[in-house]
Amino acid sequence: MDAHAEICRAIDDYREKVVAVSHEIHEHPELKFEEHLAADLLTRAAKDLRLEVERGVGGLETAFRAEFGGDGPTVAILAEYDALPNGHSCGHNLIAGAALSAVAGLKSIVGKLPGRIVFLGTPAEEGGGGKIILIDKGVMHGVDAAMMAHPMDSEWCTIPTLATQHIKLKFRGHAAHAAAAPWDGSSALAAVIQTFQSVDAMRLHLRDGSRIHGIITDGGQAVNIIPEKTECLFLARGKTSRYTNEIGARVIRCAEAAAMATGTIVETIIEGGYKNLINNKSMANRYAAHSEALGTKTPVAPDNSPTGSTDMGDVSHVMPAIHPAFAISRRGEGNCHEDAFVAHADSPRGYDAMIRVAKAMAMTAYDLLAEPELMAATKKEFAARRES
Ligand SMILES: [Zn+2]
Repeated sequence: MDAHAEICRAIDDYREKVVAVSHEIHEHPELKFEEHLAADLLTRAAKDLRLEVERGVGGLETAFRAEFGGDGPTVAILAEYDALPNGHSCGHNLIAGAALSAVAGLKSIVGKLPGRIVFLGTPAEEGGGGKIILIDKGVMHGVDAAMMAHPMDSEWCTIPTLATQHIKLKFRGHAAHAAAAPWDGSSALAAVIQTFQSVDAMRLHLRDGSRIHGIITDGGQAVNIIPEKTECLFLARGKTSRYTNEIGARVIRCAEAAAMATGTIVETIIEGGYKNLINNKSMANRYAAHSEALGTKTPVAPDNSPTGSTDMGDVSHVMPAIHPAFAISRRGEGNCHEDAFVAHADSPRGYDAMIRVAKAMAMTAYDLLAEPELMAATKKEFAARRES
């Protein structure tokens, strides 16, 4: 039996176990950095595969890392397992399951692996940037290529994701009696409202595919007092980090103008963000070929596909990476972050897709280790496409 067939057979044999783990994670949704049960379940499953697991890597309690294999290059398979306030509406339990299954498949041929596999548990994709912390702490040092797969309502071997920048704006005005002496006050609420209006006026001038969305998190203290303090959050998104930072700078100029107009002062806090995803096509094409052989076409996503953002983008700026999407619903039946997607993430269709994707990822990882030409092409492409 060749290595691919052995990997696939081991993944099929592992199905019951991984579906149980994935279902358990789904039933106990945990928010970013609080994924203790999920990390325990995945760690225990990895230990059952006779892997040595290190917990708390990168200083993150709910991160983990296991490594196995022989001499040669190293490929990382990443698991996410955090949820959102409405449950597993992003299906990260399936991301974890696909990664765990792929690892089980590759572990089954550990004696024949011409390189190393890293199984990496990455917390807090939903706004916490767990992967950025792991990169900064050196946890991904020595890894040659990385992969994970994300459930959606469509099947793609690549997806364009947007870079992000989170901006917090704090306005401070001057409180006064709103009826008796409004002329003595300066309204921090007026400054926030003016900021939103200026941002809306500026939108037209942004490049296609850009997004700015904001919320007011503090709109004042009492209706009969001119608001002294207000606060709002903006999330700027664009096709590259450089352009997203430009959008962020424009938002800040809108806030500064609003502060000047209203006689208030503004404090701006840039709270970080994610980089856009650089899809490694050498890896993605191989993944797509394996997926098609398993019966599912996974084309390259069109440039204008609806998309979000991910900290896998940051990984793709430090090493070759893929982040394919796999369909667990049909279009119109619910997509990521919607309530309806929670049920899809714990459905027979979802688990079938998870197993198939695990096979395609595991075979792609094996190929990267076994075919020096593929790894070389992957690295060459990464070096050429990486943002300077
Ligand atoms: Zn997600």
